[in-house]
Amino acid sequence: MRNKFVVGNWKLNGSLRANAELLAVLGQRIAAKDAKTCAVCVPAPYLAQVRELLVGKPIAWGGQDASRYEKGAYTGEIAAAMLAELDCRFCIVGHSERRALFGESDEVVAEKLGRVKSAGLVPIACVGETLAEREAGHTEQVVGRQLEAITAMHGAEALRGVVFAYEPVWAIGTGKTASPEQAQAVHRFLRGKLAEVDAGLAAQLPILYGGSVKAANAAELFAMPDIDGGLVGGASLVADEFVGIWSAL
Ligand code: PEP
Repeated sequence: MRNKFVVGNWKLNGSLRANAELLAVLGQRIAAKDAKTCAVCVPAPYLAQVRELLVGKPIAWGGQDASRYEKGAYTGEIAAAMLAELDCRFCIVGHSERRALFGESDEVVAEKLGRVKSAGLVPIACVGETLAEREAGHTEQVVGRQLEAITAMHGAEALRGVVFAYEPVWAIGTGKTASPEQAQAVHRFLRGKLAEVDAGLAAQLPILYGGSVKAANAAELFAMPDIDGGLVGGASLVADEFVGIWSAL
């Protein structure tokens, strides 16, 4: 049995007040479940606040990105070790918004994953194709390449302890969700690719789905055999939605 996850990605949203209001509700309504993890990945300036509000509650927290560098003269960067000092359990790497808007290549994403693992955090490694890539029939080629960049840089051992997220770019923040069957097909493909590296490990690695997950569609997505939960953007900012998604896990 693989562990399952619902992880919120707040993106560039929040304020001290809004965070406190949201987390007060989540703290009351999210109950612990065996082998299932609930977490929120928040903007770095709010990590100290989130740690204070969530400590002792069954909700973990994490960063949305980490530097490819360990330390030094890299103004504006945030090191994975700094996230670890704030008791982050997770850090997202390779989100499509980082890849598309900030020019992160597969190699940069792989470097970041290495830093996150070295700092003792669980990377949530995102892969996914654009609409043009899907329509050209290149989905498997694209997500396969994104996955291979990790093992090419760090070897098979790097996969251990990683949580993957399949996030079709065309479904992120657009209201268009991949159908459960479309998502399952890519999840199965990804698990097959992972099995080429280490079959035993592939069976244990969680692969989350992300892309307009809501309380109304979560259960049918999570019912798919290779979908191990969700990475949730917009709906993670709405308490009723996020609680509903957690209830569907
Ligand atoms: C995301 O930011 O990872 C995401 C999946 O966003 P949304 O749920 O808003 O599509």
